[in-house]
Amino acid sequence: TGLRLDVPLPADLAVSFEFFPPKTEKMEQTLWQAVHKLAPLRPEFVSVTYGAGGTTRERTHATVCRLQKETGIPAAAHLTCVGATREEIDAIARTYWDSGIRHIVALRGDPPTGVGTAYEPHPGGYAYAADLVEGLKRVADFEISVAAYPESHPQAASAAHDLDNLKRKIDAGATRAITQFFFDVGAYMGFVERAAAAGITVPIVPGILPITNFTRAIEFAGSCGAAIPPWMADLFSGLDDDPDTRQLVAATVAVEQCRLLHAEGIGNFHFYTLNRAELTVGICHMLGVRPKREAAEALPAAAS
Ligand code: FAD
Repeated sequence: TGLRLDVPLPADLAVSFEFFPPKTEKMEQTLWQAVHKLAPLRPEFVSVTYGAGGTTRERTHATVCRLQKETGIPAAAHLTCVGATREEIDAIARTYWDSGIRHIVALRGDPPTGVGTAYEPHPGGYAYAADLVEGLKRVADFEISVAAYPESHPQAASAAHDLDNLKRKIDAGATRAITQFFFDVGAYMGFVERAAAAGITVPIVPGILPITNFTRAIEFAGSCGAAIPPWMADLFSGLDDDPDTRQLVAATVAVEQCRLLHAEGIGNFHFYTLNRAELTVGICHMLGVRPKREAAEALPAAAS
């Protein structure tokens, strides 16, 4: 038919889902409802973010452990260098290991004063993500994922410096990079090529952000260095008061993005779920990632 949707996708696409630790009881319910819908898709792993400045230390811990226990899916804890000494970070990592968590997403983190402000390493802390990876590997043999930036980290001295930094994180023991969200597939593919030329052989998993709130996405993209292409602004224009239509547009954009990536040979996708299931479930469904019945039956009932 000439439609890209007519091109079959292989059954072995691997997905992973990122959540954030809920703050209130209401948010907690939303999260577990989402988990209940997403877990039967049997992601390769799920992960839980660590609040800016380490503010969610306990909540991240509780959420990661509960996710792994209740779904049986390997759960990864995000951990940052911000606001803690090396000893404190090592102690947090040891607690994870003792609780059965084997995968850490190791990050530098942003200053508690905001993404745009200057970063100052904590005196006595790990300065950068590469140092944290090294430290974590000393604590235990964690599986470690790190962040990568197809359009460069906004504070990087240059794109080449940023790639060297990614290489250092891999050389320190990380076995997967997960990217900041992006919409320019060409920019991502160029980055993957440059990384391969620099000797980076680990998977560089694209981070997929299904956009529902375009205005907020523009603000967020501005602070983390992701470009919003003009065609996206056009797709969302006039929909500020129409969340239902925005949802359909968001799903279409993300499916198109994943299909383009897949046509380039990419078979792993990491979804920023924002603790909502519907978009990610819809996108996965269109990509051929469907619930596995045994997994759904094994799950306890959703929190109500
Ligand atoms: P790094 O890899 O340390 O790099 C940060 C910057 O410093 C880069 O510009 C790099 O080029 C530069 N740099 C590195 N080493 C040196 C050096 N020795 N000297 C000078 N410059 C150097 N934030 C949270 O707070 N919590 C989370 O849970 C979280 N999860 C994330 C998950 C993903 C997949 C991604 C992509 C980001 C996440 N972030 C999270 C955001 C992240 O903390 C910020 O983007 C942060 O600004 C950079 O973190 P990093 O690990 O990439 O830092």
